[in-house]
Amino acid sequence: MRVSRLFMATQREIPADAEIPSHQLMLRAGLIRKCASGIYAFMPMGWKAYRKVENIIREEMDRAGAQELIMPALLPAESYQASGRWDKFGPEMFRLNDRGGRQFCLGPTHEESFTEAVRDTVRSYKQLPVTLYQIQHKYRDEKRPRFGVVRAREFVMKDAYSFDVDEAGLDKSYDAMYHAYRRIFDRLGLDYTIVDADSGAMGGSGSQEFMVKSPVGEDGICFCDACGYAANEEKAACPVPGKKEEDLKQINKIHTPDVKTIEELIAFMNTTPDKFVKTILYDIDGRIVAVMVRGDREINETKLSNLYDATEMTLASFGDVERITGAKVGFAGPVGLKEKIEVIVDNEVSVMSNFIVGANETDYHFENVNIGRDFTPDRIVDIRNAVEGDPCPKCGQPLKMARGVEVGHIFKLGTKYSDALGCVYLDKAGKENSMIMGCYGIGVSRTLAAVIEQNHDDDGIRWPRIVAPYEVVVCPTKVNDEENMGLAEKVYEDLLKAGIDVLLDDRNERPGVKFKDWDLIGIPLRITVGRRASEGIVEIKNRTTGETSELTADEAVKEATAVKE
Ligand SMILES: [Zn+2]
Repeated sequence: MRVSRLFMATQREIPADAEIPSHQLMLRAGLIRKCASGIYAFMPMGWKAYRKVENIIREEMDRAGAQELIMPALLPAESYQASGRWDKFGPEMFRLNDRGGRQFCLGPTHEESFTEAVRDTVRSYKQLPVTLYQIQHKYRDEKRPRFGVVRAREFVMKDAYSFDVDEAGLDKSYDAMYHAYRRIFDRLGLDYTIVDADSGAMGGSGSQEFMVKSPVGEDGICFCDACGYAANEEKAACPVPGKKEEDLKQINKIHTPDVKTIEELIAFMNTTPDKFVKTILYDIDGRIVAVMVRGDREINETKLSNLYDATEMTLASFGDVERITGAKVGFAGPVGLKEKIEVIVDNEVSVMSNFIVGANETDYHFENVNIGRDFTPDRIVDIRNAVEGDPCPKCGQPLKMARGVEVGHIFKLGTKYSDALGCVYLDKAGKENSMIMGCYGIGVSRTLAAVIEQNHDDDGIRWPRIVAPYEVVVCPTKVNDEENMGLAEKVYEDLLKAGIDVLLDDRNERPGVKFKDWDLIGIPLRITVGRRASEGIVEIKNRTTGETSELTADEAVKEATAVKE
């Protein structure tokens, strides 16, 4: 490709609303273009890199025996109503009506379509197992689209679904995807961690996420260097601590005026956060429950939602809190609630003694509260987030925490969708059984961003060769000089013939301008045809290592074609 014909525009300034390197660099290098909040177009250079990621995924899915097809993005409501997800998706789902008033959505994920297709095609156990996949746009009306294509409202996913006759079959299909995913992320050169993930209230016997560690990651990862345990923060189990025996003290109501926050309360009481228990009221599908965790802990809303198989879960409204506690928000506690509601207590709280809670009275707290004597919880469960230093659930060593971006997720679904949508097969005895499903996703556009997050410097992107939009750029320094341009043309033609994705920068620009562009876009090799062109000597520069060497034009071509990945 001749750069003079290339549809591209780079920009020097960092775009104001781009917070993370991949988003900034994708915009600056002209790989993507923002059309609306969370909606991006891929420009030719970005699309070329994107297609390379997509092809690696496609090759590995095919190699693992999955078959590609494509479902519509525009889907009828009925399928989602049958699975129960028409309501469950809530405001995240893009919904629309056709001219006849029939309801549709833009597919947020396609379990229903695949399940229906297999239901209508497969009759007998002899036709199973089967794994199908597509690489498709998905639509989710994110409340806060951020980070460019990392959390967008339209994004590309590879989603695969496996259908088996039994759990053993599912294990095999799952395993095939697990290994395919490892090959994909290995080939992309990503530094990733595989973590145990939450598999939701519907059970499912297993779920793992492929996480790219990044300080801007949206997910917390807990991991243990000692035994290799790694889990999403949502999922990480918090072991039940041992109980320290303490003499029970007399419960006592304390006036705590003008104390609004937990920090203020801790200062006021001259105590530490571990002597305080906060009580938070949630509205879970219309029913109010109280959840109690230690003052310095966070409630794990995924664990809570799973506990109730919740469809909609929010903090209880001010009105509900005031009615149930008889106090302003901030003074809820388990003792003396005005209405009977379920009280959920975290494991860690269950071993505490003589702790402080809200008194269900504005400006008052109780101290020396004890479970069993002063109130009886309805459930004692693991309901908090793990924190750095918590004992590893496997080996007891202290856990570490990191942030990660989820690029892949594999999930044993079981029969949730096959039961709901009647996806059955006839076994050897002629009896109907629900198929056992797995689902497997990769955020394709997000993976491209993750590659950039892990491969950049102050000057721009440093593409691994395997996904670089172009592998080599040939830069003549004087395009109007016959000798200079002639040699550049020859190198360019030789590389084209060798099957290399190569650019010829035939723009009449200063070398500095050209070099800045290619460093920003991140082309792995730059061959500069400059002052020694008359001797047939060129300079070759590696974008990632910064190494340069002077070679004859033929040697440079040889070097550029030698290493493909
Ligand atoms: Zn461990």
